[in-house]
Amino acid sequence: MELLKGAPVAKELTARLKAETEKLGTPPCLAFVRIGENPADLSYEQAAMKRLEKAGMTYRSFVYPEDIDPEAFYEAFRAVNEDPGIHGVLLFQPVPKRMSYRRLAGLMKPGKDVDGMSFYNLSGIYTENTAFAPCTAEAAMKLLESAGIDLTGKEAVVIGRSRVIGKPVSMLLLSKNATVTICHSRTRDLPEVTKRADILIVCVGRKHLVDERFIKPGAVVIDVGINETEDGGITGDVDFERAKEAAGYLTPVPGGVGAVTTSVLAEHLLRAYRLCMEREDGKGDGMEIRIRYLSDQIDRLEYIGGKSDWIDLRCAEETFIPAGEMRLIPLGVAMKLPEGYEAHVVARSSTFRNYGIIQANSFGVVDESYSGDGDQWFFPAYATRDVTVRVNDRICQFRITRHQPEVTFTETGCLGGEDRGGFGSTGLR
Ligand code: NAP
Repeated sequence: MELLKGAPVAKELTARLKAETEKLGTPPCLAFVRIGENPADLSYEQAAMKRLEKAGMTYRSFVYPEDIDPEAFYEAFRAVNEDPGIHGVLLFQPVPKRMSYRRLAGLMKPGKDVDGMSFYNLSGIYTENTAFAPCTAEAAMKLLESAGIDLTGKEAVVIGRSRVIGKPVSMLLLSKNATVTICHSRTRDLPEVTKRADILIVCVGRKHLVDERFIKPGAVVIDVGINETEDGGITGDVDFERAKEAAGYLTPVPGGVGAVTTSVLAEHLLRAYRLCMEREDGKGDGMEIRIRYLSDQIDRLEYIGGKSDWIDLRCAEETFIPAGEMRLIPLGVAMKLPEGYEAHVVARSSTFRNYGIIQANSFGVVDESYSGDGDQWFFPAYATRDVTVRVNDRICQFRITRHQPEVTFTETGCLGGEDRGGFGSTGLR
């Protein structure tokens, strides 16, 4: 069995990042945003701080009490995102249940979203067009890459389907041409499934769930789990001593994925910093995106990603959708893309998944790509509020606000609707 240690990968990456950071005028700065004093959060924060220091980067911590009023927290979170001295933002999750994840994901600026929680970055994982994948998922991929493992055609099994690890890592494996199976707490006969795996990724959070009985001889096993031990240490989801009898490669805990995760975080911060600087430098190229109102129901269009020199968003009162269709497409956005430009658009919708023209994915996100050959039009989902446009490498966000504070839908009022649970109950916020 070959030990797949995180330290050498992390060390090499950190050294490269440090060399690049030294060439910058000001160091990149990460904001840690944390609610309460969860020991797991604290230990990750400390490890990440050390990693950033080693890479010549800085950070600030924003810590809020457990009982903070959600509205106050949203406002604070927005302010952190808006702070021009902060280039990347890491929000510790899960946030307390009374907070709206959707709201926070919408407030997170995609260009600063170093741990890939915003709708823009999350949905980009499914289109292989993300600015930032969640760091841990990417760290698992980096470990596989460091061992020179070719994933093409391999059977990969992931145990865990969380938004932060299980699902994204599955999509990253798929993008490398692995044949991916995702297991979870309802999977029947787990060892039977996992024993098919050439690559087994375990991200469950159950101490020593996996042992040699789950592992195909010679398989690569990546243990993402972090579980506390009685003596205050940590251990993985894989029983190392037993698993090493079967595995061909195995990551230790501690010293495996965790070490690489913080290096990926630093790598993302450097990228976020560069995105910020590009906007500040106004390295514009005359790119123009025109945003037009397509409905008289829209009240206001505001920039929430900061208006920048390189992108010119404009709005104009313009209603041209035929009256009959208005009911289905109450708002829209138009974009003019010159030749040679690629744009990627994500629009967060209400809970409606399908409204006849564009299908939003399961996050309620419309996710479309365009290439420039003249006028291009797109229509975000019914009741869309926040829209993110990425043109080549640059990101801009804006928000559409409507006159009508509340709209109640009926089943017949939304043709093509699939998400019946939302009918009649979904109001525009
Ligand atoms: P999570 O949100 O609790 O998800 C756990 C997943 O495991 C769920 O999909 C759950 O299935 C599945 N599961 C639970 N019990 C199972 C069982 N007996 N058999 C099969 N599947 C089962 O946790 P997470 O946030 O993904 O984190 C997973 C682990 O990674 C935790 O130990 C966490 O501490 C660790 N972690 C490590 C790093 C790092 O850098 N190394 C970073 C973050 C987290 P259902 O969906 O059916 O409930």
